[in-house]
Amino acid sequence: MTVINHFISGVETAGNGTDTKPVYNPATGAVTGELRLANRDDLDSTVAIAKKASETWGDVSLAKRTAVLFKFRELVASHVDELAALITAEHGKVLSDAKGEIGRGLEVIEFACGIPTLLKGEYSDQASTGIDVFSFREPVGVVAGIIPFNFPVMVPLWMAPMAIATGNAFILKPSHRVPSAAMLLAKLFKEAGLPDGVFQVLHGDREVVSGLLTHPDIDAISFVGSTPVAKHINEVGTAHGKRVQALGGAKNHAIILPDADLDNAADHVAAAAFGSAGQRCMAISVAVAVGDAADLLVKKVEERALAIKVKNGTEADADMGPVISPESKAFITKTVTEAEQAGAAMVVDGRDLVVPGHEEGFWVGPTVIDHVQTEMCAYTEEIFGPVLVVVRVEDLDEGIKLINANPYGNGTAIFTSSGAAARKFQRSVDVGMIGINVPLPVPVAYYSFGGWKASLFGDKHIYGPEGVSFYTRGKVITSRWPEANHASGASYNFPSN
Ligand code: NAD
Repeated sequence: MTVINHFISGVETAGNGTDTKPVYNPATGAVTGELRLANRDDLDSTVAIAKKASETWGDVSLAKRTAVLFKFRELVASHVDELAALITAEHGKVLSDAKGEIGRGLEVIEFACGIPTLLKGEYSDQASTGIDVFSFREPVGVVAGIIPFNFPVMVPLWMAPMAIATGNAFILKPSHRVPSAAMLLAKLFKEAGLPDGVFQVLHGDREVVSGLLTHPDIDAISFVGSTPVAKHINEVGTAHGKRVQALGGAKNHAIILPDADLDNAADHVAAAAFGSAGQRCMAISVAVAVGDAADLLVKKVEERALAIKVKNGTEADADMGPVISPESKAFITKTVTEAEQAGAAMVVDGRDLVVPGHEEGFWVGPTVIDHVQTEMCAYTEEIFGPVLVVVRVEDLDEGIKLINANPYGNGTAIFTSSGAAARKFQRSVDVGMIGINVPLPVPVAYYSFGGWKASLFGDKHIYGPEGVSFYTRGKVITSRWPEANHASGASYNFPSN
C-alpha cells in the first residue's frame, strides 16, 4: 500500500500528524493508499515557509517567473499519462476523461505564461502639471487552495499557476479521496525550477481547513467544493480578513426546445449527464423538456443511457466509471428511490448495477427519471451522480422561470435551432455560464469560470482575467519630479489641478 505524504519546502515529508485516512480505488473498492493528515504544527510550519517564500518569489522578475511556467507546462504535458493514471485510480473516471481534465488545466498554465502582458499597468503622463499617475498590481502574499475530489488536476491548475505567476506562494489542500496527483504536480513544479516553498501540498481534514481559514499569515483562499462548505469557507475566511473566492455546487438545467435537432440534443445531454458518472459541477442533471420535444427526447436519451459501457476506467472501451464512495452511492440510490416512491417515472434504473469482476466497486449505472416534480429531492438536491431528471414544461418562458427559481446558478444550456430563443435565454437566465447547443460551457482559460447565486460566494470568478485580479492588489502612484526652477512655497489647499 502506498503512503501519501505532504510536500513541504520542496520535499516529500511525513509531517508530525499521527492521523491517517485510507484512499480507495472506487472501481474495485480496495484500499490502495494511506494518507497522512497534517496536525497544527505541520500547518504552522508550512504557512511560515510559504510566507518566507512569497517574500522572495514576489520579487522575482516576470521573465524568470514565466520561464518556470513554460517549463512546468512542458512537464505537465509530458506526464499526462502518469497524471491520468493517478486520477483514474483514485477517482474512478475513465482515462480519456482524466486526460481531458488535464488538457483544460494545461490551458490555464498557458494563459498564466502570458503574465507579463496580464500584469501591465496603466500610465497617465502629465495628469496634472509636472505630475504623472500610474498603476501596477502586487501579489497578495500567501494563498491557500482547498479543492474537491472530482477534478484532482484541473481544479488545482485553475488556481496555482495563476497565483504563482502573479508572485504568490500557494498551499494546496487536496481532497483526501484523491491526494496523489497533487503530489506529482508538486514534483513537476520543483523540476520546473520553482523555488522551494512557493508551491506546497498539505493533506488534512477539517482541522487543517479551519487552520488555513483563520491563520493570520494566509492572505487569500480559493475554494472549490459543495455549497454548504463554500458558504462556511467564505464566512469564516472573510471574518478573518482574507480575500475569498468560494465556488460551490450546482444543479445545471439543459432546456430542449421542440425545434432542436433532438438526436444532437440527446447525444449532448446524455454525455453531460453521465460523463464522469455525473460527478462534474457542470454536469447536466436536469433536462427541461419543452412541449412536444419531451416524449421523443426521453426515448432518445434512454437509448443512449442503455448503451453506455460502465466499467473500470482503465479499460479502453469504458464510457463511465464508478462513483466516488459507498456513501455517495447510498445517497444517490436513496434519492432516486424517493423520487420513484413520490410518483416519478423510472426510465432507466442504474441502482442495482453490478460490474462483473468488480463486485466490491462503488457502482451506479446511468439513471433517467421522467415526470419529476420540483418538490422531489431528486430535483432539489445536488445528486452528484449519473442521474438525469426530466422536468416537463409548456414553453421557453416556463423553462426560464424554473431555472431562475433554482437556488443554484452555475451552468445551463439551451438546445434549439432558433437564434431568437437562444438570445432570449442567454439574456434572461440568472446563471454564470451558458451553453447554446453546448452542454458543458466551461469557459476557455482566457475567460473566467464562475457561477451565480448559491454556486459562488465572494465576487471574483476563478482563473482568466478575474484570477489575475483575485491574486493581486492594485497600487496607484502619483509622481512628481520637481525641476530645478520649481515654484516654492507651501499650499494648504486640497491638491487640485
Ligand atoms: P466538499 O465540499 O465535500 O469538499 C471540498 C473540500 O472541502 C475538500 O478539500 C474537503 O476536505 C473540504 N471540506 C469538506 N467538508 C468540510 C468542512 N465541513 N469544513 C472544512 N472543510 C471541508 O466537496 P466534494 O464532495 O469533494 O466535491 C463535490 C462538490 O464540489 C460538488 O458539490 C460539486 O458541485 C462541487 N464542485 C464545484 C465546482 C465549481 O466550480 N463550482 C467544481 C468542482 C466541484
